[in-house]
Amino acid sequence: MIPFIDLAAQQARLKPRIEAAIQRVLTHGLYVMGPEVRAFEEQLAEFGRVKHALSCGNGTDALVLPLMAWGVGHGDAVFCPSFTFAATPEVIPWTGATPVFVDILPDTYNLDPAHLEAAIEAVKARGQLRPRAVIAVDLFGQPADYPRISEICRRHGLKLIADSAQGFGCTLHGDHPIRWADAATTSFFPAKPLGGYGDGGAVLTNDGALWERMDSLRNHGKVVKSDLEGRAFPHDPKYLNMRIGMNSRLDTIQAAILIEKLAVFAEEIEIRQDIARRYAEGLADHVIATPKVIEGGLSVWAQYVIEHHDRDSLATHLKALGVPTAVYYPVPMHRQVPYADFPLGPGGLPVSEVKASTVLALPMHAYLQEKVQDHIIEAVRGFNG
Ligand SMILES: *Cc1c(COP(=O)(O)O)cnc(C)c1O
Repeated sequence: MIPFIDLAAQQARLKPRIEAAIQRVLTHGLYVMGPEVRAFEEQLAEFGRVKHALSCGNGTDALVLPLMAWGVGHGDAVFCPSFTFAATPEVIPWTGATPVFVDILPDTYNLDPAHLEAAIEAVKARGQLRPRAVIAVDLFGQPADYPRISEICRRHGLKLIADSAQGFGCTLHGDHPIRWADAATTSFFPAKPLGGYGDGGAVLTNDGALWERMDSLRNHGKVVKSDLEGRAFPHDPKYLNMRIGMNSRLDTIQAAILIEKLAVFAEEIEIRQDIARRYAEGLADHVIATPKVIEGGLSVWAQYVIEHHDRDSLATHLKALGVPTAVYYPVPMHRQVPYADFPLGPGGLPVSEVKASTVLALPMHAYLQEKVQDHIIEAVRGFNG
């Protein structure tokens, strides 16, 4: 069987550098918030062309940290897509707020701005919840329609988070999502485009005050510089807690590994473009629908997702030929038991429901060899569904 994501190929390439990086951490022994953590945050901010990056324990905590820092809570509505990974809506009820599910566009799988606006207006008209924030997702690696979404957020006074767990590194007209969002988040789960060797996450922002508050929250609400203004505390400030926070830090070892991976990430994004182009060319005249990217957008191709009305038979056919596939996502979040009672935008989410039955992800990573890819393309073309 061909690997769906070949993490071993990348590891073989980076092995000596990663082993040396891990060894350096074992030598200095600063396993939590060691020097590599700060160094990685600086390099991440530089890569993302943003003022501040804050690392944390995983991509889910990265989503909740800005919500907590803004004081989002009970009685607030946070709008997000339903056709996404569970982490996107999950963090909203953590704060006491209510997720309101919005439909996606049929060609990019990303948030439908017109439906978002309709959902915000419907919530306002009902008067039970206060619209506070939007979480847009860069699904499968491509940027959401940030110019339109951010304009809607501005007009309604809402904060905007870009959930770029799958899309970190993607751009729209050359700019990263953070150009339009108040905070952009990512995940370093191993299978993500920029993955570590364990869990990790980060929040990017141009707002220094937000960064400082999240720095406090990721560390049990520890006192931060602005809290100490005009206050005398003669003890270790580590034990002065100003807010209810959490423990969500990136391990120093993960930061050390990610520094080495970030060094080749731009090149890997380039290679992913070539692989996506080869898929598109190889499958263009087939019955399969190949993915579209928003105009001016650059996807990092976390997934290469095709569509077929008989998706499950296609998957069985491919498996028999040694080609693994995955379904992201078979059940949209608003159809999942714990989320079924949360409100939906007007008219429901028909596009999300159809997509759940047609999408199929093919093997996609920067180390996919041409002959392996040719085999995958031939296998898809050989399906007479
Ligand atoms: C993976 C993912 C997350 C969460 O990341 P973890 O690091 O696994 O917590 C959030 N949102 C989306 C869209 C994801 O794909």
